[in-house]
Amino acid sequence: MKGIRTNIDYDVIVGGGSIVGLLAARQIAAAGVSVLVLEDHPEIGIPEKCDGLVGSSALEALGIMPKLSIIQNYINGAILHSPSGKVIEIDASNMGILVVDRSKLDLDVAQAAVRNGAEIRTANPVEQVQDTHSMVRVSCKSGDLYCRFFLDAMGSNSLMVRGQKEGIFQAAKYVIAGDWFQKDRVELFFDNNQTPGFFTWIIPTSERTAKVGAAGKGINSFRTLDRFVHEKGGSILKRVAAPIIVGGPIKNFINGRIIKAGDAARQTKPSTAGGIYSGGIGGILAGDSIAKAVRTGNPRTLEEYEKKWRRIFGREFSSTLRARAVFETLRNKHLSRILDELASSQNTLNLLSSHGDFDFHSAALLKAIGTGTVIKILKTVAAAELSRLRPFARSQS
Ligand SMILES: Cc1cc2nc3c(=O)[nH]c(=O)nc-3n(C[C@H](O)[C@H](O)[C@H](O)COP(=O)(O)OP(=O)(O)OC[C@H]3O[C@@H](n4cnc5c(N)ncnc54)[C@H](O)[C@@H]3O)c2cc1C
Repeated sequence: MKGIRTNIDYDVIVGGGSIVGLLAARQIAAAGVSVLVLEDHPEIGIPEKCDGLVGSSALEALGIMPKLSIIQNYINGAILHSPSGKVIEIDASNMGILVVDRSKLDLDVAQAAVRNGAEIRTANPVEQVQDTHSMVRVSCKSGDLYCRFFLDAMGSNSLMVRGQKEGIFQAAKYVIAGDWFQKDRVELFFDNNQTPGFFTWIIPTSERTAKVGAAGKGINSFRTLDRFVHEKGGSILKRVAAPIIVGGPIKNFINGRIIKAGDAARQTKPSTAGGIYSGGIGGILAGDSIAKAVRTGNPRTLEEYEKKWRRIFGREFSSTLRARAVFETLRNKHLSRILDELASSQNTLNLLSSHGDFDFHSAALLKAIGTGTVIKILKTVAAAELSRLRPFARSQS
């Protein structure tokens, strides 16, 4: 295809060689369309920011068959800690949740993209992107390159450059060696004083090692996490700072010949900030529709990407965004009352376990919120938010 072009270097250039950009490149190359991935860092997958908690069904949907060497652990349940110290245990043994090595996962997808014909240039940051209407000029370390379409998969960096800091919390994430982990249980500690609007988390990789993190609105997450780890003990083997995104998707994924996917389009779950699945699907849908637009010469086919992504995730993300709005208003005493109520009701625990879906949280969330006592508590603290939640609770029942 390159031969018949006069002034285009590649049909498509992808900015960002992480999971979303690489999945998109894999799809684009598979359709026989020329694609270059420009990655800022010298090595794919490094530095690793993500904890790699993902459902096996999600990986399957992304067309990834993880090698055994990528899987670090299997998760069978979650333990939620209320500010008062009570615990809620949720059985997740039927959800197929894995902890994977994100660096190795990205490398695997990069290899699949290259096998299909994609080109990857590392240590080659995108500096400027200009849509000239008939094509896109991408300025990078190699100089100016021209393409028909540019896919921005540059993660939170893309949002920061555009000054879009809304719904982004700075997280601290450590790898810890210690003796306070339950090998097959993820643990979440809720405390709206220490981690307002989010939580502290433990994702074990073995009985003696775990990825432990903390994030919250307006906090110094390193100080919070240091305090937490100091109380528990153990050694910090690695410290990472990384932004997590909980604000819900941006308004438009497509702007002329420039398309956004993954974290750059804020396609992460507003509940947990997980984005491997929802962003990965974004990358695949974007890649497929860009390839179609190149092959048909009709840029309007790009719209299929946005329509399909919103059809899958739009309602789920709106519901969890509303639940988040309520959660952020709760003071610790109310949060404790709600979580303690859930902890004391076996029916609710069964409900949470049976309605749990690792990638779609709103059904379980709204079932829990829909229980009588929780509604009574919420009524007293967040009447306005509750009235916005009710239609969703009804439609999920
Ligand atoms: C601490 C933490 C823990 C997480 N844990 C989980 C989890 O357990 N499960 C889950 O599903 N999700 C998790 N996430 C979210 C998940 O990591 C992201 O949603 C996912 O990585 C998004 O992929 P992406 O390709 O869109 O962006 P990113 O993975 O952020 O990749 C963006 C890429 O663009 C590159 N880049 C940036 N600027 C430029 C430039 N100018 N030129 C070229 N390249 C550039 C970067 O180097 C990077 O490689 C976590 C996130 C964080 C921060």
